Amino acid sequence: MISVARPQIGPEEEEAVLAVLRSGMLAQGPEVARLEAAFAAVCGVTHAVAVSNGTAALFLALRAHDIGPGDEVITTPFSFIATGNSILMAGARPVFVDIDEQTFNLDPDQVEAAITPATRAIMPVHLYGQPAAMDALCAIAERHGLVIIEDAAQAIGAHDQGRPVGSFGTGCFSLYATKNIMSGEGGMITTNDPQIADRLRLLRSHGSRVRYYHDFLGYNFRMTDLQAAIGNAQLAKLERFTERRIANAAYFDQTIAHPQVLKPLARPGVRHVYHQYTVRILGDRDEAMRQLRAAGVDTAVFYPLPIPHQPMYRALGYNQSLPVAERLSGQVLSLPVHPGLTDEDLACISGALNALSLETTEVLSSSG
Ligand SMILES: *Cc1c(COP(=O)(O)O)cnc(C)c1O
Repeated sequence: MISVARPQIGPEEEEAVLAVLRSGMLAQGPEVARLEAAFAAVCGVTHAVAVSNGTAALFLALRAHDIGPGDEVITTPFSFIATGNSILMAGARPVFVDIDEQTFNLDPDQVEAAITPATRAIMPVHLYGQPAAMDALCAIAERHGLVIIEDAAQAIGAHDQGRPVGSFGTGCFSLYATKNIMSGEGGMITTNDPQIADRLRLLRSHGSRVRYYHDFLGYNFRMTDLQAAIGNAQLAKLERFTERRIANAAYFDQTIAHPQVLKPLARPGVRHVYHQYTVRILGDRDEAMRQLRAAGVDTAVFYPLPIPHQPMYRALGYNQSLPVAERLSGQVLSLPVHPGLTDEDLACISGALNALSLETTEVLSSSG
């Protein structure tokens, strides 16, 4: 079975972890500092702050900007639950705006109408590794004095008009095991604002600048040197991994041709890093997954239910209609695109897609 995600672990990662173990210094230390410096360089920013995971990165970014009770944050309904939940965790209210059908990302044309006097921030997600429409979103944020917090969990190394994600606002990354680079669990926050960076460093470590003296309520969201050692070994391979993902996606673009399979589009001027290669199945998606599985190809649905339609959001009173996110949730299917795929795997995947035999359904017509 060709798996939909597989961490790429080599002797570099193994040796790096052993070296930390043998050093006897396991908690946040020199490996974390090295990872932060390297991450800041990749994102073209002056500060990067490592934390325990991507959810903590989003939460602390909000807290560092003093976003909390009474505040609203505009975001996308079509993402992993952590996007919306980080806003709830901070005590603020997520406001969901529908997505653009071509890019799966927040539709900037609908953002402005959702701004109220309580709006403090826009949190775009660079879904599947494709930058959100940052030009338009940054212009809106500037006009209304809003903070941009980028959920770049899936998009390390992506660019919009040559500018790296994580440099448009406060950038939040994940190093979870299946992301483009990983440290098992891990997160990173990027910023050009020294005061935000300073607050982030205090927030991740119990609000403490001088050991055992605490200025305000903080948390323990530190990364260990064990994780950072893996992250450093992975970051050294980022460009190679990313080029492989892009080449794999180009292969699918050229070889997949099936009337019921819509391939993803990269917006002009972006570097899409293909955390996922996500097609839309115009037909019975469950049946497509079964046929692909029978052909040895594992696939996944990211994500089957928009965030505000999740039971926990329904319980909070969310019940708006988000037609594009709803339609795409029913169609999307992510194929294996990771850098561990062989030429044989690639041929098998696109062959299996082209061989799909699906009855035509009414998916394309409006849901009635
Ligand atoms: C993975 C992910 C997160 C959360 O990262 P964790 O490290 O798993 O906490 C947030 N947003 C998106 C879009 C993600 O894919």
